[in-house]
Amino acid sequence: MDMNFFLPVKVIFGNGRIRELGSLVVGNRTMIVSDSVLLELGFVSEVKEEAGRTDIIEFCEVEPNPSCETVDRAAKIGREHSVDTIVAVGGGSVMDTAKAVACLMSNTGKIKDYLDGTRTFTSRKVRLICVPTTSGTGSEVTNVGVYTDKSSGVKKPMVSEFFWSDFAIVDPELTFSLPKGVTASTGLDALAHAIESYWAKSSQPVSESLAIRAIDLIMKNLRRACIDGDKESREGLSMASLLAGMAFSQTRTTILHAISFPLTNVYGVPHGFACALAMPEVLKLNYKVIGEKLDILIRYLGFEDVGEFAVAIEDLMIVGEAPRKLSEIGIREEDLDGLVDSSLSSPIAKLNPANIGRKELREIFEHILQ
Ligand code: NAD
Repeated sequence: MDMNFFLPVKVIFGNGRIRELGSLVVGNRTMIVSDSVLLELGFVSEVKEEAGRTDIIEFCEVEPNPSCETVDRAAKIGREHSVDTIVAVGGGSVMDTAKAVACLMSNTGKIKDYLDGTRTFTSRKVRLICVPTTSGTGSEVTNVGVYTDKSSGVKKPMVSEFFWSDFAIVDPELTFSLPKGVTASTGLDALAHAIESYWAKSSQPVSESLAIRAIDLIMKNLRRACIDGDKESREGLSMASLLAGMAFSQTRTTILHAISFPLTNVYGVPHGFACALAMPEVLKLNYKVIGEKLDILIRYLGFEDVGEFAVAIEDLMIVGEAPRKLSEIGIREEDLDGLVDSSLSSPIAKLNPANIGRKELREIFEHILQ
C-alpha cells in the first residue's frame, strides 16, 4: 500500500507547560490573538507574562466561527506592527484566525481571496504558536482553517501548507475553566474528528492508530469531564483532541462535518453539537459498508456491537445536553431538502465510506427529525 504522513508541528504536552512559552517567542514584536472571554478570565495576561515580553500587541476580538472581517482586521494590525511571533490563545476560532493572520502578513490581499480559491498563500514568515484552551478542534496540529463569509452566510474550511503552526503547547490546565456546554460540544467535535478520520476513504494505518486511541480516550473521559471536570478527565480529553487532530490532519473529515456547516451557519448550533447530531445514524449506515473495519474499533472499545457503540454516543450527547433531534433546533420537514443540498455541497462529504447522496441523506434527516 502507498501512504503519506506529514505533520511538521512541534508538540509540547503537559500540565503547566505553558511556562515554556517564553523560550519559543522570536523577534521584536509579538501579537497575542484571543477572544473577550479568555481576556476576562485572565488567560491573556497569564500568557503575556509567560511570553516574557513587554511589547506585546493584543487582538482579543475573535468571535466563535470567525468571520473574514475579523481575520482582516487582525491582519491589518499585525501588518502595521510588523509582528514576528503570533501566539494564539483560545479554541479553534482563535487558532484558525491566527493561522490566517500569520499568512496574510506575508501575502497581500484579504482572507476571502484565499477562501474563494482566487489566490493561494505562497509563504509565511511569522512564527505561529498555538495554545488551545478547549479540547476539541485539534487546530493546533492541522493545516486547516474554518472561516465564515458573512456576505454569503457560508462557513467553510480551507487548507494551506502554511497553516501548520510551528509549536503547539497543549496544557490541559488551560481547559479546567471550560463550562459544561463547551466541554461537551468540543469533546463531541474531537469524537467526530477521530471517528470520521477512522472511517474516511482517505484513512491509512497511522491515522487509524491515532484515531482509535483518541476515540477510546473520549469514550472514557467525556462523561466525567462534563459532570466532574476533574483533572484526569481534562487531561484525557486534551490528549484525545490532540490525537484526533493529528489523525484528521492526514485524512480530512467526512459527512458529519459537511452536515455541521449549515447546522451552525443557518441554525446557530455550536460546532461540536452540529457534528454529533447525525453521528449515531451515520455510524450504523457506514457499518453496512465497512463493518469489518468498524468491528476492530468496536472490540477495542469493549462494546458488543455497533448498536451498543451508537447508544454510548447518544448517552454522551444526553450527558452533554446536545440536541439529538433536528426539531430541537427549529428544523422542520420543509427545511430538509435545503439542508441536504447544502451539506452535500461540501467536498468532504464524498470521503464518507458509504455513498451518501440526496436520497440517503434525506432518509437520515427524516430519521432524526423528531
Ligand atoms: P471556540 O473557539 O469558538 O470557543 C467557544 C467558546 O468557549 C468561546 O466563547 C470561548 O471564549 C470559550 N472558551 C474557550 N476556552 C475556554 C476556557 N478554557 N474556559 C472558558 N471558556 C473558554 O470553540 P472551539 O470549539 O474550540 O472552536 C470552534 C471553531 O473551530 C469552529 O469555527 C470550527 O469550525 C473550527 N474548527 C477548526 C478546526 C481546524 O482544524 N482548524 C477543526 C475543528 C473545528
